[in-house]
Order: sequence, then C-alpha cells, then structure tokens
Amino acid sequence: MQVRFAGRTLLVGVMKLPNFPSVEEVVNTLKPSYPVYCLRPQTIRASAKLFLDHFPGRVMYAVKCNPNIEVMRLLYGAGIRHFDTASPREIALVRENFKDADCYYMHPVKGRAAIQLAHEVYRVDHYAIDHVDELQKIIDITGGGDASVILVRVKTPQHKALFKLADKFGCEVDEAVELLRRVEKSGFQPGLAFHVGSQCQEPEAYASALQVIDKVIQAAGVNLHYLDVGGGFPVDYVNDIPQPLTDYFDVIKRSVSQLNLRRDCTLMCEPGRALVASGCTLIVQVHLRKGSNLYINDGVYHSLSETMVCGLELPMRVIRKVASEAELIPFRIYGPTCDCTDVLQKTVLLPCDVHEGDWIEIGQAGAYSNSMSTQFNGFYPETFVTVDSPPLLPDRH
Ligand SMILES: *Cc1c(COP(=O)(O)O)cnc(C)c1O
Repeated sequence: MQVRFAGRTLLVGVMKLPNFPSVEEVVNTLKPSYPVYCLRPQTIRASAKLFLDHFPGRVMYAVKCNPNIEVMRLLYGAGIRHFDTASPREIALVRENFKDADCYYMHPVKGRAAIQLAHEVYRVDHYAIDHVDELQKIIDITGGGDASVILVRVKTPQHKALFKLADKFGCEVDEAVELLRRVEKSGFQPGLAFHVGSQCQEPEAYASALQVIDKVIQAAGVNLHYLDVGGGFPVDYVNDIPQPLTDYFDVIKRSVSQLNLRRDCTLMCEPGRALVASGCTLIVQVHLRKGSNLYINDGVYHSLSETMVCGLELPMRVIRKVASEAELIPFRIYGPTCDCTDVLQKTVLLPCDVHEGDWIEIGQAGAYSNSMSTQFNGFYPETFVTVDSPPLLPDRH
C-alpha cells in the first residue's frame, strides 16, 4: 500500500510475492540458480479449511513449522486465529502482525525473561508446563491467577510417529494430577495437553493418549477448562502414506466424548505439518552430475534437514518443457555445502538423462523446511513466490 507522509510517498505493509501460473513459468522467468519456495495459496487455504470444518474444536497453528509471513497470512486469511508459539520471536511475529489473534506459549520450558516479555508486553495468557518449578516461575513473574490458563503437558504412550516428543516433554500421570491441582489452587484455569509425536502414523495414538488424559482427570478431580490434543497430524510422503485426517478427527471425537468434561471445556489441536506441508514446493537446480550423483543447491543444512532425521522421502520431478520419456534410475543427491554429511539418506528416482542446469521440483516442502534452514557455508534459501498450479504430491496408492 502507498501512503503520503511528509510530502513523500511511502510503501507500507508487505508487498505481495511475485505470482506465477506454474512452476514451469517460474523456471522460464527466473532461471534460478538459487532455490525457490513456491507457495500454493489455495492448498494452504484448503488445509486450513479441512481443520476448521472437521476438527471438533479450536485449531491452533504451530508457528515453528513454517513462520514465513506469507504462510502465516494465508492461514490467518483462511480463518486461523490461534497460534502455538514457543519463543519471544514467534510471539512477536504473531502479535505484531495479527492484532486479534491469540497467542499460546506452549513450550514447557521457558526462560524467565521470555515469560516476562510474553506477559507484560504481549499479554499472553495461555502457558504450558510439565513441572512444578515451571509453574512457580510463572507465578513469580505474573503474580499468579489473573484468569490465565495453564495447560499441563502429559506424557502419553509411544506410537508410530516419525518424531517422538514424549522423551523430552510431558509428565507422568501422578505428577500431572498433582500439578493440575496446584494450577487450580493457584487461581489459574487448568488444562491438559499432550503431543503424540510428529507425523503420527496411527489415529489410535490419540485414543490411547486420551485414555491417559482420562486417568488424570479422574484422579485429579479438577474441572478442565482446556483440553489440547496437540499436533502430529500426518501428511503424505513417498515412503509414508497415512490414513486420511478425518479418520484422526473421528478417533479424537469418539475418545473425547467418553471423557468426563465440563460442558464448556475448550478442545484444541495444534497442527503444524498438516496445515502447511503440501502448500509449498521447492525448485532446486542441478549444479553438477557425476555419474549417478547429483549436486544440487539445497540440502540438509537448509530446506531438506528434516529428511536427515527420519529418512522421509519427498516427491521429486525434473522440470522439463516436454516430459522426459527417459528411464528412471536412482540418484544420490548431494547438497551445496562443503560438508560430507550434506547428502540425502535415500536415493531418488529421476530420468536417466538428468543433467547440469536441470531444475527439480521437490514436493511437500512447506513443513520444517525454511524454518530449519541454517546459513551454513553462505547458503540460505530465501526466495518465495506464489504459484497457481497444484502442488507436487506423492502418488496415493
Ligand atoms: C511441534 C509442535 C507442534 C506441531 O506438531 P506437528 O507434528 O507439526 O503437527 C504442536 N505442538 C507442539 C507443542 C509442538 O512442539
């Protein structure tokens, strides 16, 4: 937007990203030797709508998954008004850009200065904890109660998930009972939260987690104001095609209906991956081919770091004016840095005639990609565009 101020024309607000009808047009126009993130606004809106229409409660976006401002704006525009934040910077990002959105401080371990900032400057009033000392910190800094909400994070049973979070956070049932009572006694509205692990492959994981929640509720005799089933909702990868999200919502609905909750208890979820993974693809370029080894301009220190931890396979295709008829053969993919660990774990099937200068589109690149990129070795993918054509997805068998 342009405004006149003191006799000058100023540009305020954020400029729109360049838009292209297709990924082919991005390549034709930019001929990029650097990686390009191609956002799919319609896909991000559709993912938000799926959650808002079908999840039986409040939908909170886990900002760490992709804090890009355009992604955040698309989610906000689609109706997401709640944001799961874990650091002062994430809190500021939400509060400074979306004045009427709610910010939840869902990291169970927070620095005192960060709590103070969240409370005094940004007026955050939902906090997660999993230890009595953390409760004390919040009481010390905020003065207690004040109609704020404290969610006790509970450890839930291990299920098949690519990233297991139960080792690091969450307390056992007995501790949770004790903590929940203290939360209520200290004047806060009590809630319970858990996270079954990211890219959770079994809907039943939520059912068994909610059985643990049931135990805590029964034993504590505390009226819950909030129940937060966390994130973990999966998306399709080449080597991992989960059940549809509605199966997960059905399991949650069924399990929650069996709990003894007050009528006005607010149910919440905190999806990250499932809201944004498919809404962005990445264009990379082949900078050298040595036999069946390809050297590309993005890698595990940048947008593809998540593939390192659990070997997830992203869909890839060579971008050509005329689709290649060449036979598909496996390639080893090396990233741009001088580090020998900058290589994808799994080989990728690509046409045997792929060569230096070719561009490759990588799908499902909206989650934990730009948010986890370092600036190691002087590489830092930071170009975003929007594209109208549908994103690249793995085949659903
Ligand atoms: C990372 C995280 C999420 C998002 O998890 P996804 O698996 O991406 O849905 C939600 N809540 C908390 C507390 C997290 O740490």
